[in-house]
Amino acid sequence: MRAPNDQHFLVDDDAVERIADAVPVFDRDVLEIGPGGGVLTAALLERGAHVRAVELDTGLLPNLERRFSDELASGDLTITVGDASKVELPKFDLVVANLPYSISSKITFRLLEVGFEKAVLMYQLEFAKRLAAAPGNGDYGRLSVMTQAMADVEFLLEIPPESFNPPPEVWSAVVVLTPRAPPVPIDNQKMFSDVVREVFSHRRKTLSNCLKGLSSIYGKEKTAAFIASCEPELLKKRPEVLSVAEFIELSNSFAALL
Ligand code: SAM
Repeated sequence: MRAPNDQHFLVDDDAVERIADAVPVFDRDVLEIGPGGGVLTAALLERGAHVRAVELDTGLLPNLERRFSDELASGDLTITVGDASKVELPKFDLVVANLPYSISSKITFRLLEVGFEKAVLMYQLEFAKRLAAAPGNGDYGRLSVMTQAMADVEFLLEIPPESFNPPPEVWSAVVVLTPRAPPVPIDNQKMFSDVVREVFSHRRKTLSNCLKGLSSIYGKEKTAAFIASCEPELLKKRPEVLSVAEFIELSNSFAALL
């Protein structure tokens, strides 16, 4: 199996150290998605982590097996071969990974569903900004709300293209995700996802107009009754100013009407 065209290997020692030092990994099971040439794997092993690597590209395995033969023999390193968005994942507490950008969204939500203590993840800078954006910020959208409903997102560092070989066309950024309970309990997860998706597909419109789109899922009558039940001041707002808690409350009040 070969990985898609996002093979950019980190060659900046300072960035490697900062990523490996972002959370204490000693004696912990650390999932590393896409070890590549093993630069981050080596830094994690040096810090006493039990690295549980998942690598799609079988062409990278001979080098990894040569470089880490002792750690593979002792069990400090295991390598699962396959697509991290689909394979059964090994047991882990933490995640530290320079992610393949093509699966950023899929793998982030899979990890949040599986559960972990902390994840230190490298993304394309634009994606990381959207993950971490606060209400009112131009980057705030569906990705921000869906992620921040489940986790705190801390922006750690930006990494320029020249820190990689070959250099990608875009900047990268590292964020730390810490899962936690939603700010308000979510009564109906599907309704919450539907509301957030629908509202942000018309982000320039007012909430009142955005919410009308829900009639294709929940029917015209129920949607109209829901909109009529909302505070008029709230309906005049644009979606990008609503907090995560407000989105949850909005979907909870619609769920209560069904
Ligand atoms: N960690 C290395 C580094 O920092 O230099 C490599 C990072 S490189 C951006 C992404 C890595 O993810 C590559 O090793 C690639 O083969 C692997 N990869 C790509 N798609 C994958 C997938 N779906 N599942 C697991 N690994 C994948």
